[in-house]
Amino acid sequence: MGSGAKIKSKAVFITGTDTDVGKTVVTFVVGALLQKRGCDVGVMKPVQCSGEDAAFLRKNLNVTDSLQDINPYYAEEPLSPHLAFQRQHIHFKKEKIFAAYRRLQERHDFLIVEGAGGVLVPITPKYLMIDLIKDLDLDVVIVARLGLGTINHTLLTINQIKGYGLNVRGVIFNETEQISKGVAEQTNPQAVKKIGQVPVLGVVPYLKEISQKEIEKKCVGIAISQILNEKERSGNPSSALKRWDKDYLWHPFTQMQDWLQEDPIVIERGEGNYLIDSDGKKYLDGISSLWVNVHGHNHPQINQAIKNQVDKISHSTLLGLSNVPAIQLAKKLVEITPSGLDKVFYSDNGSTAVEIAIKMAYQYWQNAGQIKKTDIVHLANSYHGDTLGSVSVGGIELFHQVYRKLIFKTIQLDFPDCYRAPKGKVYPDYAFECLERFEQILKTKHHSIACLVLEPIVQGAAGMIIWPDGVLKGMAQLCRQYDVLLIADEVATGFGRTGKMFACEHEKVIPDIMCLAKGITGGYLPLAATMVSQRIFDGFVFDYKDQKTFFHGHTYTGNPLACAAALANINIFKNDRTLEKLQSKIKHLSQQLPMFYNLNFVGDVRQKGFMVGIELVKDKVTKEPFPWQEKMGVRVCQAARAQGVMLRPLGNVIVLMPSLSISVKEIDQLIGVTYQAIKQVTEDD
Ligand code: PMP
Repeated sequence: MGSGAKIKSKAVFITGTDTDVGKTVVTFVVGALLQKRGCDVGVMKPVQCSGEDAAFLRKNLNVTDSLQDINPYYAEEPLSPHLAFQRQHIHFKKEKIFAAYRRLQERHDFLIVEGAGGVLVPITPKYLMIDLIKDLDLDVVIVARLGLGTINHTLLTINQIKGYGLNVRGVIFNETEQISKGVAEQTNPQAVKKIGQVPVLGVVPYLKEISQKEIEKKCVGIAISQILNEKERSGNPSSALKRWDKDYLWHPFTQMQDWLQEDPIVIERGEGNYLIDSDGKKYLDGISSLWVNVHGHNHPQINQAIKNQVDKISHSTLLGLSNVPAIQLAKKLVEITPSGLDKVFYSDNGSTAVEIAIKMAYQYWQNAGQIKKTDIVHLANSYHGDTLGSVSVGGIELFHQVYRKLIFKTIQLDFPDCYRAPKGKVYPDYAFECLERFEQILKTKHHSIACLVLEPIVQGAAGMIIWPDGVLKGMAQLCRQYDVLLIADEVATGFGRTGKMFACEHEKVIPDIMCLAKGITGGYLPLAATMVSQRIFDGFVFDYKDQKTFFHGHTYTGNPLACAAALANINIFKNDRTLEKLQSKIKHLSQQLPMFYNLNFVGDVRQKGFMVGIELVKDKVTKEPFPWQEKMGVRVCQAARAQGVMLRPLGNVIVLMPSLSISVKEIDQLIGVTYQAIKQVTEDD
């Protein structure tokens, strides 16, 4: 047809591996999802033998083109077109299809052309469906049925299309009936992807009712941008990146089976409080890129600090040498943390900062000759990271159970959940009982306890559980009284998140050891610091021969680029009066949050500064949680993403933790979209 690349980039051909695999349903799903993304979609079914497919698509996708353009060739009998046309004396001319195709193309952003049957279906004895695809110069999306036998049909189709020199944009599997998925159904997509060497664009689940709403709910995983393929053709490698992501990456805390079915968002740039993906879509960063970003993305001062440092040196070791930014940052950290924390030991992330703190506390007593002080106390529901040492002091069963045999024994102190009070108890009164419990443990066991490790004021990963006022202070006092070291893990709470620079400041607590990471570099580079008191430091100062050195150190410890970023981050706090400006924004946030209680399935809304948890419950009265299989939190976050706000849940808790630089207007956007997303997912289902 000689239509050139422009036409090719604006349309796709949908074929089946056979008749009755659900091509029309999938065409409708793809069309509906594209429309949801704001794309003006046209549809075409050039050849149809019996049935209502073209009319169905026209009506349900709400397109106004004439049925003659959408379906230029129609025969009454359900037969192969070559036969049906012959029996009805229909004289087929491909030019009629081309003309209609051009008209539709001009009217729409994107056109979906649906075949009839498979690619070798004869339209005339000498003109097969695949000839039409070639003439239209289209890439192909193959619809395959899930189940036994599909691999053979699908691979044959792929080979045929490729053999014709055409491109397969991917395969969509369709659940044609409500079946419980066996091994074949679960493994079909992987097998086709691997053997057929084509992308799998998703699985359309069995749809009870074929409506826009049902599709939006159940088909979000279809890789729509790969179907569009616009950016790839115009030089933007978005689709290729998404494919390579699935081919080469293993994502953290992610069930990759799900991921491989989804359309991943690939972040390409950041601007202030927004993230921009490889398709150019902008998202408000509602969780500050997993609780790290402080002053916004692409901040000119932090950028410049790193650039300046790159021109000097990017890395040199702290083992046996020192470097300029590492020294300057250590001095600065000692200045800004509660007085009494005097030395800085660097590492790369929150887990190592905690791991180091535990090893230090343990060895401190060993060095001091109190060799029985080896036990470690931590709190129920605590989270301190994913390395084995930090997992050992974690209290979230889901993350820890599988490693039970690998991790060391600890004493877990029951800790109050501010939302779910034990029977007959009232919050916050019962919360203070944990101090009594702690004292009981200390009374009998303090000779064998090395330290208490805790997340001060907010237990983040547990779902933003906020401590009642006074409990932290009480714990710190008990630690002093019984000579047990206090480790405050400020990895999440540090650098302004709770409204003060460090959460310990709320209760004027000075721990023996403080762990910092996440926000330390403004969310730019991996860096952590374990800060200790002079007393702890002195506990390691001995003669070389005594072998009481702290034998620990990571290769990139004190990395100059990361330290330069951290120095710039801390300077911005001072120069921009970040904490001062934050207070009115915290207030604004707390004025907005109560409205979430209007929603039928919001049980609790918790806030400390810029750390917010909105807990979804199945029943507000009994506080019964939604079963985790329902993925309520995930679904709410997906709905928010569709509205341009990036969130990530903790189970049934929707977390809001924006950068400190977020504006009041952006807070309103964050709140508004989150509210609508919760309402849409929990109430409109
Ligand atoms: N401690 C706390 C309190 C945390 O919230 C986290 C991470 N969410 C960690 C430690 C672990 O930090 P990282 O992921 O950098 O290892």
